[in-house]
Amino acid sequence: MNFKIFYFCLFSFFIFHCLNAQNDSLPFNEGTLLMHLKTMSSDAFEGRKTGTPGGIKTQKYIVNQFHALGVLPLGKAYEQSFAFVEQSDHYKATNILGWIKGTEKPDNYIVISAHYDHEGILDGTIYNGADDNASGVSALFSFAEYFKNNPPKHSVILAAFDAEEFGLLGSKYFVGNSIVPLHKIKLNLNMDMISRSDENELFAVGTRYHEHLKQLILNIKTDGDIKLVAGHDGADHKENWTYSSDHASFHQKNIPFLYFGVTDHKDYHEPTDDFENIQPQFYIEAVKTIIAVFKNIDKLKL
Ligand SMILES: [Zn+2]
Repeated sequence: MNFKIFYFCLFSFFIFHCLNAQNDSLPFNEGTLLMHLKTMSSDAFEGRKTGTPGGIKTQKYIVNQFHALGVLPLGKAYEQSFAFVEQSDHYKATNILGWIKGTEKPDNYIVISAHYDHEGILDGTIYNGADDNASGVSALFSFAEYFKNNPPKHSVILAAFDAEEFGLLGSKYFVGNSIVPLHKIKLNLNMDMISRSDENELFAVGTRYHEHLKQLILNIKTDGDIKLVAGHDGADHKENWTYSSDHASFHQKNIPFLYFGVTDHKDYHEPTDDFENIQPQFYIEAVKTIIAVFKNIDKLKL
């Protein structure tokens, strides 16, 4: 055997092993996370507005992912539909709800949520909503992937809400027509806009209302240099985000919440909120960070 080839083989084997070892320790596949965000914020999904073909295409996409990842339908099916009227237009909205049975506290639920709807097409321009909120929905899939190897102690509901952009309607309907007893829902962990931050800051909102949540977000370590910051809940001088997304519907029912998000950026609710403008490394670290917080939550007796 040529020694050059021998050493090359040895080297390749070593690299292969290192990569595999690294993959074993990852909570989810990072490439898959990015791929789902890219797909759902592509023009083919037409901005995912409630009740439009793009919105319905997104529902099917989420159902397919939940099914493939072993997430069970929460009700008879994954879909929870409802109707509403806005400025004399009639809409049909559909939440997509799946669940994973807890190993130790199956009757107590943690709802991990992200809204999938966005602005749709306005004056012929598609608003793709990559950060808002394909980023949160794709993270739901990473959670499902994580749970396959790390089943949660509490039961987990993965909720992809519709009609958030119409005033948090999907989450309001969910808590108003709960499929599981509402008092069994112990916490909502909501993700809305988690894929970019020039300051490298991910905010955790909601610890103000429930002191015990504060320690959960301390000492979170990931390999990156992302900063997890508590605030934006009315106790500091920053904008109050208590009612800014679907976690508000849980808060109004006195269910503790933690909301993860970033500050508004120049592409917020603009047609330029595209995949090309997210920050992949920040996004990956943000999802790892949120999963690390979940682990802390799941250890508690909720
Ligand atoms: Zn949003």
